[in-house]
Amino acid sequence: MTAERIDGRLRAKELDSRVTEGVSAFSEKVGRVPGLAAVLVGTDAASQIYVRNKVKRTKSVGMLSFEHVLPETTTESDLLSLVDDLNADPRVDGILVQLPLPGQIRAERVTSAVSPEKDVDGFHIVNVGAVASGVGGLVPCTPLGCLILAAPFFGGDFAGVESVVVGRSNIVGRPMANLLLARRATVTVVHSATRDVASHVRGADLVVVAAGSAGLVRGDWVGEGAVVIDVGINRLADGKVVGDVNFEEVSGVARALTPVPGGVGPMTIGCLLLNTLTAALRREGLGDPDIGLGI
Ligand code: NDP
Repeated sequence: MTAERIDGRLRAKELDSRVTEGVSAFSEKVGRVPGLAAVLVGTDAASQIYVRNKVKRTKSVGMLSFEHVLPETTTESDLLSLVDDLNADPRVDGILVQLPLPGQIRAERVTSAVSPEKDVDGFHIVNVGAVASGVGGLVPCTPLGCLILAAPFFGGDFAGVESVVVGRSNIVGRPMANLLLARRATVTVVHSATRDVASHVRGADLVVVAAGSAGLVRGDWVGEGAVVIDVGINRLADGKVVGDVNFEEVSGVARALTPVPGGVGPMTIGCLLLNTLTAALRREGLGDPDIGLGI
């Protein structure tokens, strides 16, 4: 078997065009355009690239982008006061504060200061609780992107799908497991204390891997015909970026597999924009976007 290579760039473009349509429909109805504020503190090179890409994609779907770049020496109280201003700003529907933050600022203080209604990263405890209880909320972008990528392979219905999530982090593994559970998948979460990770992975129809360990998942770990979503981003000594899955080996057994780069990564920003549209619609009492994602 040669696995279908799931084209995350193409799927993200499709998502962006649906969000663009949603933005036009919103502005026709409401008379304003949804807005996303991006806050960057300091000069971390990777964070600068992430924020630049987010700002570019925000504008490309027709939303307003508010960019706030603060110096490395910014105090926690200065950042919290900016967050307060953005919470109160009626033009701002979504707020993202790029992580990591400099050492003098406690990330959890900032995350919990963002209004849950504008928390388009889905990191506020109110949204974490809503997603864990399966009652809505704003969903963290990376697991939402994984769900959208996997959905067509199960006809949009995850009920009874044997799913294994590798990793239990708050930003990927746990919300991923909760999203699948809410859709009645049978979910196993494995992590670094799991005795035999491979034996769990082998029995899965769907495997989502977010471990941060290059090439961890080998071909003989994966069951014939599984769908494998690779969240990992690992930079090797030679500068090459690879995922947590051994792509060549797993391609020989899986039904479908995401590459790294070009798989989950592009969907993450797409879902940030989708969440901003969702937040804008909810703020105006217009419900959730109806853009046929099949989830
Ligand atoms: P964390 O380091 O927070 O969590 C990693 C998880 O994987 C932990 O639960 C850890 O277990 C588990 N783990 C680590 N090694 C193994 C192993 N050998 N076997 C089984 N489980 C293991 O990472 P994140 O969740 O934040 O990120 C994971 C990866 O995804 C990273 O490469 C990151 O760069 C990437 N990423 C990509 C994004 C994208 O947009 N494409 C977005 C976010 C992350 P334990 O808890 O026991 O330590």
